[in-house]
Amino acid sequence: GVEGELFLLKDQKGRAFLVRLREGGVFHHHRGAVPHEAIRQAGPGGRVQTHLGEALSVHRPTLEEYVLHMRRSATPTYPKDASAMVTLLDLSPGMRVLEAGTGSGGLTLFLARAVGKEGRVESYERRPQHLAQAQGNVRAFWQVENVRFHPLALEEAELEPEGFHGVALDLMEPWKVLAKAAEALMPDRFLVAYLPNITQVLELVQRAEGLPLRLDRVLEVSWREWEVRLPVAHPRFQQVGHTAFLVAFRKWKDS
Ligand code: SAM
Repeated sequence: GVEGELFLLKDQKGRAFLVRLREGGVFHHHRGAVPHEAIRQAGPGGRVQTHLGEALSVHRPTLEEYVLHMRRSATPTYPKDASAMVTLLDLSPGMRVLEAGTGSGGLTLFLARAVGKEGRVESYERRPQHLAQAQGNVRAFWQVENVRFHPLALEEAELEPEGFHGVALDLMEPWKVLAKAAEALMPDRFLVAYLPNITQVLELVQRAEGLPLRLDRVLEVSWREWEVRLPVAHPRFQQVGHTAFLVAFRKWKDS
């Protein structure tokens, strides 16, 4: 049946809509309606038309598309930043990653894909509503059972010392969990924090003093989209502006 399958529809203006198919369901666009059954028949890479003649392309959502369009409680880590965090954390299949806070589960999905089915993401979120949203979001996109959701502030977690290949933090006051997270990190591995404000970056760097963490780098990911519709080709007039700073620390070995 059509039940449950996840699609992304794109209209003529490039606007995207996530659709989860239901038996007898109908997708409503402001330029007309399409039965879910027609979407299923068109399939990924196909096209459908609304009853008012708007053409829509039919896709499986990419991870980036999914995170930008999924339901959110907290603002997800922007995909360009989440993918950079995977690189900074140097994640590979089979690794164990610690994450807080889970938020809407956007970053969780990037981490879960990077460590694969033999790996593990242990994700902590102190707000139950956010955690419920994140669990729903993650399970709707990613069927692999490699994420464990913990309804706890990271401060309250019981963590195996040096049990993690990486730590990813997207929360307002990461300095409050820094000592704990550092202890859970394996030597020579990375802790990466996502911080919208430079004042947070400075506070975090200062609070890392005395911990077995060496500041490795602070960076922003700039991602400039171009409009290419020949003969037009120029940077888009509307761009995503500032998202956040990424701060990476590397753990010293004891002694
Ligand atoms: N990275 C997430 C995503 O991609 O969807 C978004 C994270 S959101 C900006 C920050 C989350 O951290 C909030 O849901 C908040 O409740 C949670 N949080 C804040 N402090 C926390 C703590 N000490 N332990 C666990 N979660 C915390």
